[in-house]
Amino acid sequence: MTFLKQTELVNLVAQLSLEEKIGQLQQLTGNFYTEEEAEITGPMTEVGLTEKSVYEAGSVLGLSGAKATMEAQSKYLSKNRLQIPLLFMADIVHGYRTIFPIPLGLASSWNPKLVKKTAQVAAVESAVSGLHVTFSPMVDLVRDPRWGRVMESTGEDPYLNQLYAKAFVEGYQGDLANDPLTIAACVKHFAAYGAPEGGREYNTVNMSDRQLRESYLPAYQAALEAGCKLVMTAFNTVDGIPATANRYLNRDILRKEFGFKGVLISDWAATKEVVAHGVAANEKEAAALSLKAGVDIEMMAFCYQHFLKELVTEGKISTDLIDEAVLRILELKNDLGLFENPYRGANEEQEAALVFSKEHQEIALQAARESIVLLENKQNVLPLQKQEKVAFVGPFVEYHDLLGNWSWKGNPSETETIKEVASKRKESIEFVATSGIWELTDEELTAAHKAAEKTDKIILFLGETADMSGEASSRTNIQLPTAQLTLLRELKIHGKPIVVVTFNGRPLDLTEVAELSDGLVEAWFPGTKGAQAVTEILFGETAPTGRLTMSFPRNVGQIPVYYNHFNTGRPIDANDADNKYVSKYLDVSNEPLYPFGYGLSYDKVSYQDLVIQEETIGLDGKISASVTLQNNSNQPVTETVQWYVRDIVGEVVRPMKELKGFETCIVPAGESKLVTWEISVEELAYIHVNLEKKADAGEFVVMVGSNSSEVLAKTITVKN
Ligand code: BGC
Repeated sequence: MTFLKQTELVNLVAQLSLEEKIGQLQQLTGNFYTEEEAEITGPMTEVGLTEKSVYEAGSVLGLSGAKATMEAQSKYLSKNRLQIPLLFMADIVHGYRTIFPIPLGLASSWNPKLVKKTAQVAAVESAVSGLHVTFSPMVDLVRDPRWGRVMESTGEDPYLNQLYAKAFVEGYQGDLANDPLTIAACVKHFAAYGAPEGGREYNTVNMSDRQLRESYLPAYQAALEAGCKLVMTAFNTVDGIPATANRYLNRDILRKEFGFKGVLISDWAATKEVVAHGVAANEKEAAALSLKAGVDIEMMAFCYQHFLKELVTEGKISTDLIDEAVLRILELKNDLGLFENPYRGANEEQEAALVFSKEHQEIALQAARESIVLLENKQNVLPLQKQEKVAFVGPFVEYHDLLGNWSWKGNPSETETIKEVASKRKESIEFVATSGIWELTDEELTAAHKAAEKTDKIILFLGETADMSGEASSRTNIQLPTAQLTLLRELKIHGKPIVVVTFNGRPLDLTEVAELSDGLVEAWFPGTKGAQAVTEILFGETAPTGRLTMSFPRNVGQIPVYYNHFNTGRPIDANDADNKYVSKYLDVSNEPLYPFGYGLSYDKVSYQDLVIQEETIGLDGKISASVTLQNNSNQPVTETVQWYVRDIVGEVVRPMKELKGFETCIVPAGESKLVTWEISVEELAYIHVNLEKKADAGEFVVMVGSNSSEVLAKTITVKN
């Protein structure tokens, strides 16, 4: 691709009128360009736009399809004075039409390479359909499953979140400058959107600068280091200032400290919302605050459009701030080669050939297999055996929407159901599809009982609908709907083994389900090929390998419960029978039901002989450790070996455990395998009181295990 030179871009900015510059900062939805003029007059006047301002706007969201985007672009260019192309953006979060598991499910693969591959596929499908930018990845660290958007996150661990942030960005962007089948990534939501009080959507975020830098910022930073072109602001406040109007976050940290040179876009109408937050009296003040804070593009609000000119005339805003934002937007258009070819990857023929292709679906199948987490397997109830008669019961038996939220181009009707996949098999399966997530009719219950009587094992397919997680879907009760619990309780009377498979977008409170069932499979929303992957796992063609990246609480009252927490001054003492005045609940243990890193497979390895090469090292040294995995089963076992570290004494309190490395390996049947690991002391650095990041001398515990709560441990000393 050929590109304009920087001087040409600067000249172009100079040629624009103030209105045209403000236009570049405006993002509109696609309907302004697809519908007939007469039909958009209404929406236009409603928000105070004119035809001229619509054809000066710089970008569009939510319009895709090669034909639609090409037509919109060509119509736009015919009316835009200097033929500056439009940018097409959309939320391609876990696939375009080939839908992968939701990000929380993808993360459970502990396989950043696979995640990168899914992002590449999403980029190809999006690019041929005319998109230039995806509003992904969402790298917000999460600790509260009441918040519906945990489904879009990769979990509670800063280290893992960084790896996934990088994987998503590299996958989407590839060789952005030379390959038109790539798209620019927009990391979101800056910052700390994943920490709303009480898990309530859009709510206040209050945290110290140190915690922000220690746990929340690293993933955004990893995305930027991977070359991420855009950043989106967040809806929440951080320390009393709305993120979208937050100069400290957006100018001091993002631009100055992190050196971000790309485009900062507001979240949907977040500019205007600073009025409701109460730091601006009106939209005019909101425009000034947001621009001063460094927001370049205003998404579907009109504070810039309506007030920037006035603010410039009154001398309240310098045109330099506007020019700087416009230049960044033109640079992005140029980086995508749009001045040379405004249609970039859009191509109807390629769209027909590549979107939802067999190859892409194959990758979706692999991603689904690796995302599923086996939580319980009492008496090896799974995998199901060929000769067993089984009943498949519940609302998800004939349910097509296994795609989950944020899959607007995915088509549930082209997603096979569990019944469609399983009925092709030779085993004897009775199907009882109950109709509602929230209801259970007497007839359905009777049919379920009948099927249960005739069969050896009962498999229940339960869960949340897609719209019970995602944006604006916070819940205070995160159990399965009562009708589904009733079904489980009722079927228990047959005394037969019960396996529960759940489809959901958040860690649920599964305490009762775990008690009543023998097998428990967390399938998330597994995407286009989810039913196939679940069925393979149930029947044992695929062994489950997924591991949780977010803790599952025992009940809502335990939230937030996460593995990398601090100690208290009064921890539970294993040698004290009383433990009265310690940090605990009277009714429930401090430990989650299923911890971070947890997940079973059909066979197990044991961890033996944690060896540390040198138990005393210098600050510039390296920790070299090894552990032996023993597989006494007659099947190969895929194991994700997790390495954790605890810094026992710090200048500030350090987490009880922090994931610092992991490796997935296959241990052949009946064999053992030596796994080695190395980490420099430098990588144990943390944020000190003065916000400096450095490592300390002292004692550290090195831990290794198959999840965050079952580990072997050894103490080492780091000397000055
Ligand atoms: C969401 C963003 C999303 C945007 C555009 C907002 O409501 O918070 O994550 O990218 O809409 O669809």
